[in-house]
Amino acid sequence: MTNTSPATNTHYVPEDLPTHIQHYIDGQFVDSISGKTFDVLDPVSNGNYATAAAGQKEDIDRAVAAAREAFVNGPWPRMKPRERARVLNRIADAVEAQEDRLAELETFDTGLPTTQAKGQARRAAENFRFFADLVVAQFDDAMKVPGSQINYVNRKPIGVAGLITPWNTPFMLESWKLAPALATGNTVVLKPAEFTPLSASLWAQIFKDAGLPDGVFNLVNGLGEEAGDALVKHPDVPLISFTGETTTGQLIFRNAAENLKGLSMELGGKSPCVVFADADLDAALDSALFGVFSLNGERCTAGSRILVERAIYNEFCERYAARAKTIVVGDPHDPKTQVGALVHPEHYEKVASYVEIGKSEGRLLAGGGRPEHLPEGNYIAPTVFADVAPEARIFQEEIFGPVVAITPFDNDDEALALANNTKYGLAAYIWTQNLTRAHNFSQNVEAGMVWLNSHNVRDLRTPFGGVKASGLGHEGGYRSIDFYTDQQAVHITLGAVHTPKFGSVDDAASTEG
Ligand code: NAD
Repeated sequence: MTNTSPATNTHYVPEDLPTHIQHYIDGQFVDSISGKTFDVLDPVSNGNYATAAAGQKEDIDRAVAAAREAFVNGPWPRMKPRERARVLNRIADAVEAQEDRLAELETFDTGLPTTQAKGQARRAAENFRFFADLVVAQFDDAMKVPGSQINYVNRKPIGVAGLITPWNTPFMLESWKLAPALATGNTVVLKPAEFTPLSASLWAQIFKDAGLPDGVFNLVNGLGEEAGDALVKHPDVPLISFTGETTTGQLIFRNAAENLKGLSMELGGKSPCVVFADADLDAALDSALFGVFSLNGERCTAGSRILVERAIYNEFCERYAARAKTIVVGDPHDPKTQVGALVHPEHYEKVASYVEIGKSEGRLLAGGGRPEHLPEGNYIAPTVFADVAPEARIFQEEIFGPVVAITPFDNDDEALALANNTKYGLAAYIWTQNLTRAHNFSQNVEAGMVWLNSHNVRDLRTPFGGVKASGLGHEGGYRSIDFYTDQQAVHITLGAVHTPKFGSVDDAASTEG
């Protein structure tokens, strides 16, 4: 079944790769106080190409102290939005100017196909421009009670934001948190994913060159249970923005409770792609393929359960599998490659184990394991299972790789029940020409985001987030501004103050509170 199209199987290594990746604290590149390190692999050879400083509690303490000092005594939180926006725009310029280098490093470290990594750099730059615009245009409410009171919202940055990010599209997802946190005047400590620390190390120089004051941005590498855990538990970090697995999110929730932190949780998904018989089938096929096989299937919003109306089920499965078999799998640096190498051997083992589970849960139509022409590296052929029952593990559990489950349905009610039949609720994709059905289905599907007759194209102003086990809170546009700021209410009396005169003989008539 692994007759996926060949691409080259070379091992491209970018020039000037660092052999050691450090933390960045208070404007300085530093190692862990303990000297501890961890190994970093590339997913094509699975060889160690670098070590990275392994942050411990004392390194997090140091980074938080720097960020706190920059927040309490530094200029950044007090700068005018326009001044901060200028810095953010310079950051965006620098990210765009380094697009090729960024894409090269991201591809090398994550195994993402280079053409898709380039898109990530552009999106990262756009995040900075977007939030630069937003804070300049930001205004807050004022509410008047005629003749007696005026109230207004004094929006303020909160303090040190802890940002914890995953390894899929790492640079872009970091920008998603860094841009609004910094735009609103906070200072930050970023803990990037340990599988992919390479591209994050570029932020330091980009920020320094753009004029971000020292201490505003701090980065601590390390394992989740060490550096991440210390950040979550630190009493001087009032906010944690986390993107990652649902189980990690649950643990962070518990650990953050002690200090009652503000939490934003972007978690896992198992999103349905629902194709009705009246859909534009060519467009639905393109989208259903791209939706699960782009970014190597390592995509939180992947449409990894495809639900297809019975009347077109056989035709859909046949055409889908034929296309999946010709997807180009290979060296992520080759511009022809459509599916590259999975990020890490541990993750490869997990995805491969689901492929084996799927063989007893569905009818294998394409893929089914390692492509024959790629004996080394973390490669899995795009794998398609049909006739998958809703109780199946490959229907219920997030695989986070190039594996898809296809299930038939007979009517709208059954389609909706199947779509909602998982613990997750991140995205849903719906393909139908029927306007009434499209809107009714969208409104009833349990998903934070719905795309109608479209693959995942996101306007940065829209809310981003999941329901059920896919997350808590929304980021995106003004919701990110809300998350990273306090809205203090200021009340001013306009006329005479009428306060009950407790303890005074004049108090008789004044009991109103
Ligand atoms: P993960 O949960 O294993 O790790 C994410 C981050 O959390 C890493 O930086 C890790 O070091 C850190 N971490 C781990 N344990 C921790 C702890 N105890 N305390 C603090 N930090 C800790 O996730 P992953 O495997 O890196 O990423 C894949 C997951 O992310 C998938 O489930 C995917 O759906 C999800 N994801 C969600 C979105 C979204 O927006 N909803 C976007 C991308 C990825």
